[in-house]
Amino acid sequence: MRAAIAPRVGVLALQGAARLHASALAELGAHPVEVRQPADLAGIDALVVPGGESTTMSMLLDSSGLQRPLEERVAEGLPVLGTCAGMILSATEVLDGRPDQRSLGIIDLAVRRNAFGRQRDSFEADLDVDGLAGGPFPAVFIRAPVVERVGDGVEVLARVEQGPVLCAAGSVVVCSFHPELGGDQRIHQLFLERMEIPCPVTPSGPASSTRRGPRTKPEASSSPS
Ligand code: GLN
Repeated sequence: MRAAIAPRVGVLALQGAARLHASALAELGAHPVEVRQPADLAGIDALVVPGGESTTMSMLLDSSGLQRPLEERVAEGLPVLGTCAGMILSATEVLDGRPDQRSLGIIDLAVRRNAFGRQRDSFEADLDVDGLAGGPFPAVFIRAPVVERVGDGVEVLARVEQGPVLCAAGSVVVCSFHPELGGDQRIHQLFLERMEIPCPVTPSGPASSTRRGPRTKPEASSSPS
């Protein structure tokens, strides 16, 4: 990390796996801050949206009053690491989502929820990650989404047979798996290093000023969470 002062990295803590993200960030020298209400967004330099249940998190973002102020911060270019449910909440297009589920729409991807099956179909895979030193990354997939469409300007950094599972666009990094499980902090490190990369050009212009709005696409056979 180049910043002389430890960056304050928010971890959305409405539901899901926030605590291990906070300890990974702290071990890397960042200052983790739990985000539960709008006031917690003040002064954060980046945000981790953890795994959990994207439908529940979407509801809690609404009821906590965080949705609108968070949309404003990400539209200004707040760096975001979205993991599993956090990837779903970050994507421009959600397949097999619930009709009332909202996403932040900050990375131009179509992601399908629960693409690998249910809880019992959880698995681990050693991923070759583009540019990541130190060998394959041990990734844990739990009711994970997969990417079905990658927009212009989005880099695919790792994939499995079913499709991309780690993507980035400037300082927005998303993955289908849980990088906080397993004690390997290299995905968090990669995110902290990318915090300073300006947002790339999306189909509609520079992401920092024109990040695309939320769009979800419920399927006819909407699967349960
Ligand atoms: N299947 C969950 C969802 O749709 C994501 C699971 C996870 O974050 N481990 O939100």
